[in-house]
Amino acid sequence: MREILGTTQVLGVIGYPVRHSFSPPMHNAALEALDLDFCYVAFEVEPVRLSAAIEGMKALGIVGLNVTIPHKETLLSLVDEIGEEARLIGALNTLYFDGQRLYGDNTDGRGFVASLRAGGEDPQGKQVVVLGAGGSARAVTVALARAGAKEIVLANRTQVRAERLAEMLNTRLRPGVARVVQWQSAQLQYELGRADLIVNTTSVGMHPQEEACPVADLPPLLPEALVYDIIYNPLETVFLRRAMAQGARTMNGVEMLVYQGALSFQLWTGREPPIEVMREALLRELQVRQKRG
Ligand code: NAP
Repeated sequence: MREILGTTQVLGVIGYPVRHSFSPPMHNAALEALDLDFCYVAFEVEPVRLSAAIEGMKALGIVGLNVTIPHKETLLSLVDEIGEEARLIGALNTLYFDGQRLYGDNTDGRGFVASLRAGGEDPQGKQVVVLGAGGSARAVTVALARAGAKEIVLANRTQVRAERLAEMLNTRLRPGVARVVQWQSAQLQYELGRADLIVNTTSVGMHPQEEACPVADLPPLLPEALVYDIIYNPLETVFLRRAMAQGARTMNGVEMLVYQGALSFQLWTGREPPIEVMREALLRELQVRQKRG
């Protein structure tokens, strides 16, 4: 850990609860690797104290914050300016100052797409299936539509949420870019079988429900299909294991987590983030937590 000095500047994550966050070890490892005079801490703030906390952030000169549940949407009305993508997603995950003005951004979707590109995948022209229609699905689909995905087929247990998301994508981003199919239907099986990219954004299969899988059966996938589960605990979900069993290429949620963090890091420090250091710190912390059970 780098020495804390009188000059040390503060970064952090604000949420409630927030003690479980993986961001402090990941960002502190990056700050240390670049020998930057910052530290990154977790602020557990109850919803009723959120606006006081933001005033405190301004008064104390906290350089930037990540935002997590349940403040991601509420903060939209507490910042001076909102990035275009955050506005479309309807949630923030990053706060930083642009001069005196507090700026709210969302790096989740851009982080997802950056992780694809880092793995040699360009979403441009791709046929995509996204499972889920929650907060992360909004971020992922907005970024995919902006990155030129050909079509995004959405399926969600609560269909009306998928329909609302598809309507937003079609009206605000590109007419016809999104379409909804019924959850666990034969039509979903058909779409999975012809997709270039399949993304699970549901929490099904996440620790401690590790034996669960968002789709009962995976049909035969295209030989070059990429299956991405944004869950990072466990690293290998049942969903990914079923895809691997077919020989499909897979990616897990560590990549999205690293790249969304890297984009925030760049906004705060103006420095190129040390991706490998961030990934290693995250994997180390995941291992520690898994041992604890
Ligand atoms: P969210 O807004 O609460 O959405 C949860 C989604 O999961 C909804 O689509 C919900 O469907 C679906 N779901 C939950 N339980 C289900 C069940 N039993 N059967 C079918 N569908 C179910 O959560 P979120 O913020 O989008 O997060 C979702 C997952 O993404 C979590 O595992 C989270 O850890 C992960 N995540 C990863 C990253 C990353 O950087 N890697 C970032 C954000 C989130 P309904 O609409 O029907 O409830």
